[in-house]
Amino acid sequence: MGDVFSITFWGVRGSIAAPGPTTQRYGGNTPCVEITCGDRTIIIDAGTGLRPLGGKLAAEGRNKEVDLFFTHTHMDHFVGLPFFAPAYDPSNVVRFWAGHLKPERTLESACRHLMSDPLFPVPPDVFQADVSFIDFDVGATLSPAPDIKVVTAPLDHPGRATGYRVEYQGKAIAVVTDTAHVPGKPNASALKLMRNADIVVYDAMFTEAEFAARPDWGHSTWNEGVRLAEQAKAKTLVIFHHDPSRTDDQLDAIAAEAAAVRPGTITAREGETLAL
Ligand SMILES: [Zn+2]
Ligand SMILES: [Zn+2]
Repeated sequence: MGDVFSITFWGVRGSIAAPGPTTQRYGGNTPCVEITCGDRTIIIDAGTGLRPLGGKLAAEGRNKEVDLFFTHTHMDHFVGLPFFAPAYDPSNVVRFWAGHLKPERTLESACRHLMSDPLFPVPPDVFQADVSFIDFDVGATLSPAPDIKVVTAPLDHPGRATGYRVEYQGKAIAVVTDTAHVPGKPNASALKLMRNADIVVYDAMFTEAEFAARPDWGHSTWNEGVRLAEQAKAKTLVIFHHDPSRTDDQLDAIAAEAAAVRPGTITAREGETLAL
């Protein structure tokens, strides 16, 4: 177990959950990824995929100490938070981390806002675990455990977002969502996080044509993901944050096109695990 370094996708859909027959194969839950570093669990984002992940961690007894990092607190990345089972077990330690809210707000205040009348029936005080909210300075390198390094960098997203690079046992997994790009000007933060990474998860919500119509919506394309991954000499590119209206068949077509341009490129599917 000590050597395991893997990523599992619990939600790959952007903006809003999209259940139904046309999204079944790639999945309809909103962003949540589990990164396993030996016996420790790092979670990035609390989309609707967080609920089944929390249930699994509790069932397997892997919930005693959990660190959950937020890219940001837009609803698709936040709404699963009250349904995170490990936060309700008094024998657990749960740390929530965010870098995009300083200095105007705190993560705890955002959580209190989400879990307050008339949006939610009970406040975060119902959590029974030893819960802490940590607001860090974006750009900092964090160390949730002595052998785990989490590098952070600011992304290009309305209201700000944070990208992450988790390093463990000499390998690296980067999660770079939600972010826009400027055509022809590779994003320095994205490159920093992706440099020589083994796995890069990248916001590919838009096609190039959709991006051209919405360059300021804070999302990018798989084509830009390929350009960045090449420049950063990253290994496996995983395209992520699928548009909620994209059907499985459309995603199959995108997956084939992206893998033809950069062999080995993966289109994220809910339930899939990639191990290093
Ligand atoms: Zn999003
Ligand atoms: Zn967002």
